[in-house]
Amino acid sequence: MKKLLTSVVLLGCLLVSVYAQGGKEVVQEKPTQVERKGAQASSKAPEANFTGDVLVTPFFSDNEDAPYYGSYVTFAPGARTNWHNHPAGQRLIVTEGVCWTQEEGGEKIIAYPGDAVWCPAGVKHWHGASPDTTMTHLAIGGRVPGKSVQWFEQVSDEQYLSGTVSQESAAVSALPARQQSIVAIASLAAFGDIERLKAALGEGLDAGLSVNEIKEVLIQLYAYAGFPRSLNAINAFNDVIKTREGSGITDTIGAEPTVLPRTADKYAAGRTNLERLSGVTNAPPAGYAVFVPTIEVFLKEHLFADIFARGVLTWQDRELTTISVLSAIPGVNAQLQSHMGLAMYNGLDEAQMRAFIAVLAEKAGQPTANNAKTVLERVLAARK
Ligand code: MN
Repeated sequence: MKKLLTSVVLLGCLLVSVYAQGGKEVVQEKPTQVERKGAQASSKAPEANFTGDVLVTPFFSDNEDAPYYGSYVTFAPGARTNWHNHPAGQRLIVTEGVCWTQEEGGEKIIAYPGDAVWCPAGVKHWHGASPDTTMTHLAIGGRVPGKSVQWFEQVSDEQYLSGTVSQESAAVSALPARQQSIVAIASLAAFGDIERLKAALGEGLDAGLSVNEIKEVLIQLYAYAGFPRSLNAINAFNDVIKTREGSGITDTIGAEPTVLPRTADKYAAGRTNLERLSGVTNAPPAGYAVFVPTIEVFLKEHLFADIFARGVLTWQDRELTTISVLSAIPGVNAQLQSHMGLAMYNGLDEAQMRAFIAVLAEKAGQPTANNAKTVLERVLAARK
């Protein structure tokens, strides 16, 4: 009790609860309590019920007024619970990494930061990290007097690694790793989240993107997110390359870009490229082009001629770059919708577009993915 009191800060405001006792009203005063971050000690999860390194940090102490518990649980790559069930079910809110969970006889479900998993009462299941990520989830469950979690056998390596993945969860793997990296790099660069961008740049090089392919993503970025984001991202990429060189890593430079001659009719080249990119010929001029013809010239000559003529990336990769950037920018759903259509016209199928959403959820966050998914559903409905 003394320990509890020392770890609890009593605030001046009072919580007043009123209840009846023997027909007479009794007012009991209880203070609001704050348990400061770090007040709860972490402990290693018992080896009897878990495989691999698992750390449990309760995020509040037991309270007789609240019949539930809550803990952060951090699983090292490959670590997982044994098979078990909960007397009142359990919610898992993923905060870091990639969570795998499965009920007995069911498909594997993959959940990402921000996703909330509900494990119903009495259903035998397991949860843990993917093989290559450290995963943390908040686990919240109800307490039932006289009942506790029922623990069963370990999840064997074979059970952990085999089995089918639910269709929705499988989405990520529909995109090749290098394209998943394009999504991560382009969206994080558009956000200006430099620390996470640096990690994504390293992962992209490891996944097989060449230095010049990544440079093209970061050049194209400026047409949609502006020079400041593009230049910051290019500086970050330079840092990443230097750090890797210092560690003895030699990255592939890749194909060199094509540069249009200065004498080229860039407006005509841009119009032709846009027609090939969209499959739409002789489109009537857009309202903005009639109102401000200069912007139409810049768009054709520069974006669709200078940039789209550079090669190095396929047009499919370039459209994937564009929709990744647009997803990270609020207020451009009209453009996002039209470029999702172009991405699909350039060969990305529905499964790959859903993979794009799943990668956004993992890298750019759930709100960004949710907005992009709403736009994607519109694009898919229009194509049917
Ligand atoms: Mn559970």
